[in-house]
Amino acid sequence: MKPLTTAEKTDYRQTSTHREVLGFIEELKAQRPVFRVESMGRSAKGQEMPVLVFGERPGTPVVLVLANIHAGEVEGKEALQMLARDLPDKYFEKLTLLFVPDYNPDGNDLIDVKHRALDLKNLEGQIGPEGGVGTRYTGEGINLNRDYMKMEAVESRHLAVLQATWKPHVTIDSHTTDGSVHGFALTYDTSHIPCGPAAYVHSKMLPDVSRRLETRTKLKTFFYGNLVDEADLSRGWATYPHFPRYGSHYRGMSGRMDILLETYSYIPFKDRVFTTVEILKDIFDYTIEHASEIKRLCGEGESARPDPVGIGYGPPQSIGECEITAWDMESQLARRIPGREVCSYRMPHFAKFVASKEVSRPAAYLVPQELVKIIEKQRPGRHPDPDREPGRGLDGTPGDGGDGGPGAGTHHGTRRRCARADRPAAGHAGLLPAGAGERRRPRALGLLRCAAPARCDPPGRPPPQHLISSGNRRRSIPAIRIIK
Ligand SMILES: [Zn+2]
Repeated sequence: MKPLTTAEKTDYRQTSTHREVLGFIEELKAQRPVFRVESMGRSAKGQEMPVLVFGERPGTPVVLVLANIHAGEVEGKEALQMLARDLPDKYFEKLTLLFVPDYNPDGNDLIDVKHRALDLKNLEGQIGPEGGVGTRYTGEGINLNRDYMKMEAVESRHLAVLQATWKPHVTIDSHTTDGSVHGFALTYDTSHIPCGPAAYVHSKMLPDVSRRLETRTKLKTFFYGNLVDEADLSRGWATYPHFPRYGSHYRGMSGRMDILLETYSYIPFKDRVFTTVEILKDIFDYTIEHASEIKRLCGEGESARPDPVGIGYGPPQSIGECEITAWDMESQLARRIPGREVCSYRMPHFAKFVASKEVSRPAAYLVPQELVKIIEKQRPGRHPDPDREPGRGLDGTPGDGGDGGPGAGTHHGTRRRCARADRPAAGHAGLLPAGAGERRRPRALGLLRCAAPARCDPPGRPPPQHLISSGNRRRSIPAIRIIK
């Protein structure tokens, strides 16, 4: 008999522990030898992090699906186990699929009914699973989807190695969102870094996937956003900030395609898992049908070398009007989901980031010696330093929401706030004499390799302050761009 997931076995009252995920994979492997299991490495608490590899035919597009980065948002973890079991073999002839069913195993296992408990009044939490879920953070208190620049977490560094090894054409990151009252089963997005592959995913791929899904399942989906004003729906629908510490934007900078999936917290858990399974199938179908186009655009994105480079972006700007499926105003204001009557509202769609500040592409950066050491230490592919104290190193975060787009909110910090108290206020002192920290490498920006894959220098590359401003007082460390 085919193995069942923990969610299926419990009629969606529970989600899998990491050990149950590993057990499911073992059982399935014996029955369905269409995949092999690689290891990403071990989590901070020493748990094995498996990657399921399907297909691997030369020339097929590589699609990576990440699940459970925020371990309270568990739909992807359940969906990937089900797809590993049920996806027809024909997909593996046309695609190379990489499934990471539990990217945050330590956070996952801190399951508690208090996590993401439903609180519609404050637009927080979700409907089930009633047995509880894990935490948004890793066992060490790091938010992995704010860690792409610093690579503070060992899990982030494992992922960087996985991405560098496989160079996925499309990466899909599975989440759950609770920020607004609307009528969509799922919202999606792509990188906000304005370069070729991201523009394609935004204008062509995602709208097409959304139409396919609605035709097959009647599920309504749209671009991720929140209402600018809950009481006045004419004011708009705005996406979240553009910072490359978010995985989507970080990957967008590498010139590859990225899809963020946010199932809707206020539909039942079982429906959220179903929605995730079904949209993943549509993304796979689309990728198969457009394989050569996707591979060509990724190749172009990878080799692009725009100059000047945007380093500052304001809030998202309107890309025109959009139609948001929601409820009658009385239900909207009462935060009742589902509401009494489905309604549709036209409003401006704030989803475009335009550079407010640009600089010539630097040949190098001059930075304090201390920062050079930290950057070198945290380069993707290096193993974690067992001597490093938690919280030390490149420990800063730019401000929550930064330059304050409408999408900025309370969920955008890197670390759990309580974890900040025991962190050093300022760990990096002293500039070396002029010139001492300078490095020139054949590829511009060599020093900041930990900030983005070295092959890519897209227009949205962040200023060095994104890497280093911080500590409890958000101290900025000077970094000077060296222009040839
Ligand atoms: Zn999330």
